Parts: sequence; structure tokens; C-alpha cells
Amino acid sequence: TCIMNRNNLCYNHRFVTSTISSHSGSPNIPASLEKLRLDGYLSSKNIAHASNDFGNIYHHLPSAVLYPKSVSDISSTIKHIFDMGSTSDLTVAARGHAHSLQGQAQAHQGVVINMESLKQEMYFHKGEFPYVDVSGGELWINILHESLKHGLAPKSWTDYLHLTVGGTLSNAGVSGQAFRHGPQISNVYRLEVVTGRGELITCSESQNADLFYGVLGGLGQFGIITRARISLEPAPLMVKWIRVLYSDFSTFTEDQEHLISSEDTFDYLEGLVIKNRTGLLNNWRSSFNPKDPVQASQFNSDGKTLFCLEIGKYFNPEETAKVNQKIDRLLSDLSYIQSTLFLSEVSYAEFLDRVHTSELKLREKGLWDVHHPWLNLQIPKSRIHEFAEVVFGKIITDSSTGPILIYPVNASKWNNKTSMVTPHEEIFYLVAFLSSAIPYSTGKDGLAHILNQNKRIIDFCETALLGMKQYVPHYTTQEAWQTHFGAQWDVFVRRKSQYDPLAILAPGQRIFQKAR
Ligand code: FAD
Repeated sequence: TCIMNRNNLCYNHRFVTSTISSHSGSPNIPASLEKLRLDGYLSSKNIAHASNDFGNIYHHLPSAVLYPKSVSDISSTIKHIFDMGSTSDLTVAARGHAHSLQGQAQAHQGVVINMESLKQEMYFHKGEFPYVDVSGGELWINILHESLKHGLAPKSWTDYLHLTVGGTLSNAGVSGQAFRHGPQISNVYRLEVVTGRGELITCSESQNADLFYGVLGGLGQFGIITRARISLEPAPLMVKWIRVLYSDFSTFTEDQEHLISSEDTFDYLEGLVIKNRTGLLNNWRSSFNPKDPVQASQFNSDGKTLFCLEIGKYFNPEETAKVNQKIDRLLSDLSYIQSTLFLSEVSYAEFLDRVHTSELKLREKGLWDVHHPWLNLQIPKSRIHEFAEVVFGKIITDSSTGPILIYPVNASKWNNKTSMVTPHEEIFYLVAFLSSAIPYSTGKDGLAHILNQNKRIIDFCETALLGMKQYVPHYTTQEAWQTHFGAQWDVFVRRKSQYDPLAILAPGQRIFQKAR
């Protein structure tokens, strides 16, 4: 197909030259497209916002933004562009909440679809297998609040809930529940998708399964998710939220792996790497209480590399005594530094929306809309010690530019029929370097330094053949994408030629180039 025979060099050149571009897109919307009868509207005015994202590093100005009011607005726009065939180089990007990091939701001189405009009512189904049908542009925070009114909630989350369903399902959607329930893409029953041909298709495990699995983790390449059926469970009211520290990496990972190996365990598990932080435990006191305040006040984090295990146990108030006993039993199996046990008790909604609390604080200080050179990796368990020794021991000198997350998950909870690629081991670690760059800094907290550090980490993983896979992946050559997908590349390309043969969709991922 045209996708497979493309000239790679030309493709790369085009994107490299438009990367970090000026806002110079020229309107190339054909009059016929502007004349389409829509329930919403297409606008080429005030569209600069569509050339930005959370990463704030890549900026591609589209030619127009579609504000859809119906699914048919989306399908007729794409169908029209598809029918123009190779006479047009227009591409289409669904824009969820634009919390991409490298322009993935942008479309250089193309059409950006503002998915949050597609308002559709949530439909709740109760019963043995409860679920909710939601719009692809719905924010997870809204789903949480609506579900709680029914005493229900999704099972698997992301750390931050101001992201859309379509945006996270196009990647995987992971957080501290993934070890139990798998990522969000393992918790979806059905999707409605508009393909790159403009067709609206309903898909599930038993109906159009190839499209269903393709779209999950599919980086927006095969269709636009307009509706999703998300699996729910009874929601707890409260969460016991716990942090403990380790100074030894092996002890830390042994405890993490022990906790994810059993059904009788916590409901949430993550971890953090903390290097060279002064007064760490004092900072925790604003949200957590030390179990032993005297011992905790004597603990000194200065100059150390520490590993924080963060765990959560869900409960309802009437079960408090029982859950406390259970937590004591689970903690007694762990080998953390005893003086560093900190506990907190928060509502389930507060717990899930915890990052938003930090967002509000950062916004107040003008530190939210900065550059975010994030790096998300998946490292196989068998190589995590080598990774830690080099990356946390040598490459990273401190963790002051942002949190460094590290936690294991069970691959068996991921469905390998989806487009998402993971390392080939039963347990792998999610490692996230969530840096914010200080504007105009040329020092260690500046964009150039952090990007260079990220490159050193990737280079090390590749040279040492760790079997690392990026999460929310970013590559600039098709060869690199092919390596990323490995044995799944052929299926990925076949699905592309089937569902989006002209490569109209999600050009900001830079995997395929629109055919001309
Ligand atoms: P966008 O950035 O708008 O889009 C992402 C990609 O999906 C684009 O290619 C876009 O074209 C495509 N897309 C968007 N909507 C649709 C649709 N309806 N149908 C098809 N394709 C679509 N990820 C985790 O897994 N776990 C986390 O804990 C987590 N925390 C995060 C915290 C923050 C503060 C940020 C900025 C990101 C975080 N992420 C996390 C990453 C996040 O899941 C992805 O960046 C996700 O794509 C963002 O969703 P969005 O709605 O903003 O998507």
C-alpha cells in the first residue's frame, strides 16, 4: 500500500523541519469542506490553542478546528477528506484534553477535532457487570463524579483525571490499580469508532474485534473513538493512603513485587525515586501523619537516594477496624525503614483526584504551563536493577525537576491483542520521569539539560539492550517505530491500510505520512 512504500527520508525531513515550528500554517481548507452541513461548526479563527499541548515543546498550527456536536459531524468531515483522496494533503487529529507531550494531538495545516465539544449523555448500566457508556471526549474526572452518584466507579485509572477517554485509551491508561485490573484498555467492553474512511463502526471482543483491539493502545491511528463502554465496580468511600521509605533498591522492589503477586493485598501500589531532597518527611506532613512522630523527625533525607513505596487500601467507614488490622498484617511483611511510615485517610474521590490538587498549587505559582520534557518507560523486571544502578545512580543527580515514578505491573493483566506493546516478561516496571523545565533556565532545571538527560537514559537502555519499551511513545523515524512495535509492526501496518488507508488520522504521532 501507499503507507508501506513511502520514502522514509522525505517523511522525516518534513516533520523535522516543522517541529518546534513558528505558527505559520496557511489555511488550506477546501471550500467544499467548509460547506459541509454540520451540527457543530468548523472554524479557522482563534485556533492557536490547537497548536499546543501539555509538553509545550512542539507547535503545529492546523488550518481549522472542528467543534463537533454530533458523531456525524466527525464521520462526514473525515469521509469528505477521504473522498478527496490523494488530491488533498489534509490530515485530521482528534484533540482530547491535549495532554500529549510531543504534539501527538496536533495536525500541521490539517483539521483538529475538539473532542470535548462532542457532548453525549453518560448511560449507566447496573447489574452483575455494571458499565457506563461515555463520549470519547469525556474527561475521566466527570466520569468519576457521575459514577459515584450511582455508587459505582471505573476500576483502572490514570494518576491525573483531567484527560479524555479517547486520549488515554489510545495509549493504555495506567496507575496504581493496573497491577490488579490491568490498564484502562483492559477494562473496556465496547467502542464506537469513526475510521479513516469516515465509517462509524461499533466494535468489541465479539464484533469487529480486529478494529476493537487495534484502536486500544492504537495511538489514534485506526479511528476516532466517539463512544466507549467502560467497566465499573462498586465504589469504596474512603482510602487509607500510605507512604514508606527504603534506602535499598532491591528491598524496595522485592516488597513491591511481593505485594503485586497476591490477591490479598493493597488496592493501589506505586513508587517514587527521591534523590538529594532536603526535608522530605517534613513536606509529607501537610497531607500525611507519621506513625511515630519522634522517630520520623530524626530521619534525614539529605543527600540520599531513597525509594518511596506508595500504597492505598480502599474501605468503607464501617470496616475501619477490619481494614486497619489487614493493613497492619500486610505492612508487617515489608522491610521499609520503620521510622518513615506515614499514613493518611481521604475520600476515594479526593484520592483519585490528588494530582489536580498539585496542579492548582502549581498554577498559582505560574509553574503549570511550562515545558514538560517527560519520559515514560517500561523496563522488564530482569533488567530493572541494571537500569536503576546506571540511571538513578549515575545519570540522575537529583529528583528536583519533578517526580520519578517506578512501579511493577503484571503483563498477564494486559491483553496482547491490543496495539499497546509491552516488554516480553510477566512483570515489568513502569518508570516515569515527570520533569518540568524552569522557563529560560540554562541550568540543570532547564529544558535543554532535561532533554539531554532523557536522551542519555534512552541511549543507555538501547545500548544495553534492556528490552525497554517507551510508554506514550515518541519516535521520529519509521524505522524507530518499527523497532518499537517489533513483531506487532506487521499487524499495525495491516490495520492502518485497512482502517485508515490514506493515513489521514493522528499525524502528530509521526508514524505514517498522508498519501499524496
Ligand atoms: P490528547 O493529548 O488530546 O491525545 C492523545 C492522542 O490520542 C493523540 O494522538 C490524539 O489524536 C489521540 N486521540 C485523542 N482523542 C482521541 C479519540 N477520541 N479517539 C482516537 N484518538 C484520540 N497516562 C497514564 O497512562 N497514566 C497516568 O497516570 C498519566 N498521567 C498523566 C498526567 C498528566 C499531567 C499528563 C499531562 C499526562 C498523563 N498521562 C498519563 C499521559 C496521558 O494518558 C496521555 O498523554 C493521554 O493521551 C492524554 O489524554 P488527552 O485526552 O489529553 O489526549
